[in-house]
Amino acid sequence: MRKHIVAGNWKMNNNLAQTQDLITALKHQNISSDAEVMIAPSFTNLYSAFETLKDHPVEVIAQNMHFAEHGAYTGEVSASMLESVGVKTVILGHSERRAYFGETDDILAKKVDAAFAANLRVIFCFGEELADRKSGNEESVVASQIKNALFHLDASAFKNIVLAYEPVWAIGTGETASPEQAQDMHKFIRKTLNDKYGEDVADQMSILYGGSVKPNNAKEIFSKPDVDGGLIGGAALNADDFFAIVNAF
Ligand code: PEP
Repeated sequence: MRKHIVAGNWKMNNNLAQTQDLITALKHQNISSDAEVMIAPSFTNLYSAFETLKDHPVEVIAQNMHFAEHGAYTGEVSASMLESVGVKTVILGHSERRAYFGETDDILAKKVDAAFAANLRVIFCFGEELADRKSGNEESVVASQIKNALFHLDASAFKNIVLAYEPVWAIGTGETASPEQAQDMHKFIRKTLNDKYGEDVADQMSILYGGSVKPNNAKEIFSKPDVDGGLIGGAALNADDFFAIVNAF
């Protein structure tokens, strides 16, 4: 059985006090679901988040990292720095990183390699833009994002990858892919993995959906057979909403 995962991407929200308040609110929630639950606060709040969530099942993860081990990369954070504060999982390839910070498939391939060199698990994000979907190119765009950043890896590496399909037109817009659109794309993604690496890799891969998942649509999206969880933006900033989504499994 594939792992169910619900991860909250806090983006550039919440200072130290706000981070502590939200974590306190999260700790008051009941987890009735079988999903692994993760939150991704900003870099500056990772350490304190780990301290506050010691011995708690919610995992603290990072939103990004640089591919270099160390050096003259002002403002950047390396995999080993993340690892040194307790991070075991990092989000890579979010559409905001691609759109606002020029992250290409080549850069992401290097980041994936650097994450694995530091024994980090990767949540790899990808997804088509509205124009791609309107022109019927969503599958070819998604396939090339996956191939270019991940298909240099051995099959064994995929045990440490979680895929997150996030159609750009659905992120933060209130417009969600329909459960059928999500299912169709997740099935295609699994087939793409199957064609290259075979059934074992494809069947065990957790594929998350991201894009305006809210308490009122999570259950239906998560009920689809190839949807194994969600990457949650806006709704992850409210403890009740986030846990309503977590407990939709
Ligand atoms: C995201 O940024 O990964 C995301 C899915 O955001 P939202 O849930 O706000 O659409």
